[in-house]
Formats: sequence, C-alpha cells, structure tokens
Amino acid sequence: MPKILLVDDEEPNRDFLSRRLVKRGYVVVEAVNGVDACAKADSERPDIILMDVNMPVLDGLQATQQIRSNPDIRQIPIIALTALAMAGDRERLLAAGCDDYESKPIELPQLLTKIQTLLDARSAT
Ligand SMILES: [Mg+2]
Repeated sequence: MPKILLVDDEEPNRDFLSRRLVKRGYVVVEAVNGVDACAKADSERPDIILMDVNMPVLDGLQATQQIRSNPDIRQIPIIALTALAMAGDRERLLAAGCDDYESKPIELPQLLTKIQTLLDARSAT
C-alpha cells in the first residue's frame, strides 16, 4: 500500500488523520516539524507527503522548498494542509513546490481524492 508522510506539529491533528488513513489501508509515517519532514522524506521515501504549513523550527513551505531542491526526493508529490485562507495563498503554496493543497478543517473525502489523484498520476509516469 502507498506510504504517506504526514507532517503536522499538533498531535491531535496527526492522530485524527493518521487513524483515518490507516483505516483505509495506507501506511502512515509521521513527522512533527519541517526539519523532521525533510529527514523522513529522505529516509522513508514516502509515495506522497501531507504537509502542514504552520509549524515551528521549519515551516511547511520551507520544508517543501528543501525537498524540491533534493534530487533524490524532489519528485514526491506534496499536498499542503493549511489553515490559512487568504487570497494569494494558493499561488504561494504552488510556487513553493506543493502539488495541491487542502484547507483545514480537513474534509476527508476531498483529501482522499486528491491523494489518489496524485498517486495515480505518479504511477502513470
Ligand atoms: Mg501547525
């Protein structure tokens, strides 16, 4: 089954999503900030990354930029999870290298569709 790297600094958020993703058969690895996300993207080689934006140490956009600059892992799809809903955010997220984004509170069916779309696109190449 596809492996998902789930990055969020808030444990309740990780628990909520992790349990639901595992229930649907995904393998879930968790990271707690941007530095942890970059390390685990490299060591775990997930099929896709769900990246919180607002995090301490290194935020989701900076972590995405670091992952995109590493040739070994730059091709991993990234969906940003953002609480921000300001105009221009979409452009900022995509400019940082995210493939898609989902606004919090997360609507699970919509997120699952986005995950599957990116996984399908990746396996088709
Ligand atoms: Mg956060």
